[in-house]
Amino acid sequence: MWRATVFTLFPGMFPGPLGVSLAGEALANGIWALETRDIRAHGLGRHRAVDDTPAGGGPGMVIRADVLAASLDAGFLAGDQRPRLLLSPRGAPLTQARARSLAAASGVVLICGRFEGVDERVIDARGLEEVSIGDYVLSGGEIAAMVALDACVRLLPGVMGKEASGVEESFEAGLLEYPQFTRPREWEGREIPPVLLSGDHAKIKAWREAEALRITRERRPDLLGKDEREPAPRGAPER
Ligand code: SAM
Repeated sequence: MWRATVFTLFPGMFPGPLGVSLAGEALANGIWALETRDIRAHGLGRHRAVDDTPAGGGPGMVIRADVLAASLDAGFLAGDQRPRLLLSPRGAPLTQARARSLAAASGVVLICGRFEGVDERVIDARGLEEVSIGDYVLSGGEIAAMVALDACVRLLPGVMGKEASGVEESFEAGLLEYPQFTRPREWEGREIPPVLLSGDHAKIKAWREAEALRITRERRPDLLGKDEREPAPRGAPER
């Protein structure tokens, strides 16, 4: 069973959206397990304080290293080899490749920041790897943790109906996915591209590859290799 442990100040947010659909069914079927650890259980004093003002001044509050470390230390089993990820806008972007490698591990430990973030010393001392879900700032790491978990869980064996449906998706071959169509054949005067109805699997494959490349060039040229990004030399046939 793939095991996820989430350290959070808001354990009540989980499983949230992970409790329904693919991830929820997989959770109910024991394909993965979700444990939450309330960081506040290790808070200080009568009010179980977890944060304090930033050293050097400035707005907001920072999660204390001693509190988070106490929570982590109490939550880890000796010899737990799972990756320990701190959700953070400063982190390395979470990619499909990373989600695949996390899904191939025995599970993951996710730590959710709040306020202005986490005292740097605990990141260092407990070997936390910072991971970001995108170039924007959320108010807490919980939704980011759910995004990361959803990306991993759907890749676990037995979660998606057809294992193949994960292999052809966006980012898997370094490209965005080709356009999808379904019934009706004609809708508001728009037809499904005839090649998709031809039954010619080789032609369909070629069309999908060309479309995936076209869309990636248009929307995410950064995903393509350097050669692909460079404009074709004058007189060269359009790719
Ligand atoms: N002061 C921090 C900064 O500028 O980098 C932002 C802190 S944010 C308000 C609070 C928490 O939300 C972070 O500690 C992190 O856990 C989470 N968070 C916010 N944006 C995120 C993102 N893009 N990816 C992952 N986690 C994020």
